[in-house]
Amino acid sequence: MASIIPYSCQDISEADIAAVADVLRAPFLTQGPAVPKFEAEFAALHGVEHGIAVANATAGLHIACMALGAGPGIHVWTSPNSFVASANCARYCGATVGFVDIDLATRNMSVDRLAEKLAQAEADGTLPGIVIPVDFAGFPCDMKEIRALADRYDFRIISDSSHAVGATYHGDPVGRYADITVFSFHPVKIITTGEGGLCLTNNAGLADSMRKARSHGITRDPAEMEQEPDGPWYYEQVSLGYNYRLTDIQAALGSAQLTRLVEREARRDFLARRYDDALVTLPLRLPPRSNDRTSAHHLYVVEVDETRTSRTRSEVFDQLRADAISPNVHYIPIHLQPDFKRLGFAAGDFPASEAFYRRAITIPLFATMTEEQQDRVIASLTRALT
Ligand SMILES: *Cc1c(COP(=O)(O)O)cnc(C)c1O
Repeated sequence: MASIIPYSCQDISEADIAAVADVLRAPFLTQGPAVPKFEAEFAALHGVEHGIAVANATAGLHIACMALGAGPGIHVWTSPNSFVASANCARYCGATVGFVDIDLATRNMSVDRLAEKLAQAEADGTLPGIVIPVDFAGFPCDMKEIRALADRYDFRIISDSSHAVGATYHGDPVGRYADITVFSFHPVKIITTGEGGLCLTNNAGLADSMRKARSHGITRDPAEMEQEPDGPWYYEQVSLGYNYRLTDIQAALGSAQLTRLVEREARRDFLARRYDDALVTLPLRLPPRSNDRTSAHHLYVVEVDETRTSRTRSEVFDQLRADAISPNVHYIPIHLQPDFKRLGFAAGDFPASEAFYRRAITIPLFATMTEEQQDRVIASLTRALT
């Protein structure tokens, strides 16, 4: 029997392994030179000034919310079509979570719904302090429009770009329009450090605040201290922080992975276009494309078009499984999770996200996928839908 094709898979080279082994032989396993090196490389690649590496993107979203003042009484809005971490970060801070429904054309936060909700919130006195758009599947959000709304209504933007390492928007890598942009390096994502994440910002104050939050709120800089240093060993906790650090072992893997980002993105784009061409005649809605942005193709999500087939999403999903393919579904709308329903959310609140969820299937796409593997996926979908 053919081996199972996963929906996503990491790509680790011998050079990656050697880079990790080098750290294991060096003096520092954590808090050494590999983390600042990776931060500087990642920030430079994105044309953004400051990079703050963290233990995972969830931690990154948390310290981004802290730095931007999330707390009790502050409203934080995100997309329901995302992983729960996009909303939980606000809850960690005691802030009030809200959602803005998606645009079915992009599967990202709808700018029209956002504008409507802002107008309503202005009337109600419940304007958000922070909005967290999510670059679903690696397709960048409408950041110019969201930035214009942020300037008008005075909220901050955290871009959850966990899927979008390597994506571009108006010719530049993502990360230039948000106050803070957060990436994930979980093994299913575009590049990996095992677990890991990184926050980008052009604001030195936010960078400093996130660096402190990542490491217990501790400073070793006498200029920032409230008390006289007792001696050279002295450090001071000046705010409440966490241990959200990335290790040097992980950062070395991240730097090594980054060197192959361009070729990997080219491969993902090649495979995505191959899917586009092969699947266009099936009763499926395919991922968006646009002239002004490129997707990182973290996920390739098709929607079973109920108006053109009597086959259900479950039937198609089962056919793929029967053909030794491991599909997935992204995402169960966050507001439908029991722990969010307890906050007052209910089915029907965000109809576009809910409709997308009912139709969506994530089919395999990863940089090491072969064309033979892809042909098996295409054949299985064709069997299911014709
Ligand atoms: C993976 C993911 C996260 C969380 O990333 P971790 O690094 O696993 O904490 C957050 N948001 C989105 C959209 C994700 O896909």
